[in-house]
Amino acid sequence: MGIIAQRKYLPTRMCVSCRERMAQNELLRLQCIEGSINKFQKSGRSFYLCNDCLSQEKRVAKALMRQCRSGDKDKLMNKLKEIIADGRKS
Ligand SMILES: [Zn+2]
Repeated sequence: MGIIAQRKYLPTRMCVSCRERMAQNELLRLQCIEGSINKFQKSGRSFYLCNDCLSQEKRVAKALMRQCRSGDKDKLMNKLKEIIADGRKS
C-alpha cells in the first residue's frame, strides 16, 4: 500500500459471508477445487472473505461449505488455517 491510500481507485470486492464490499487487498481470495479450498490459482471461479469473517469460525465455516458445496466443515477449516498460516509466512 502507498503512503496515501487511494481508496476510491481501489477495486472493491464482496465478501461472500457478510456481503460487505471492500478493497480487494483487505480480502482473502480463495477458490474451491474438487471440494477443497485453495488460494486463488489465477484461473477459475473464486470468492473473497474479509478478515472480520475469517476471525469468526462459525461464520466462515458456513460460507466455505456453501461455496464448495461441501459438508466437510473440519476439512475446509483445516485447509483455511493452512492457507492463512502460509500467507503470514511469506
Ligand atoms: Zn465478511
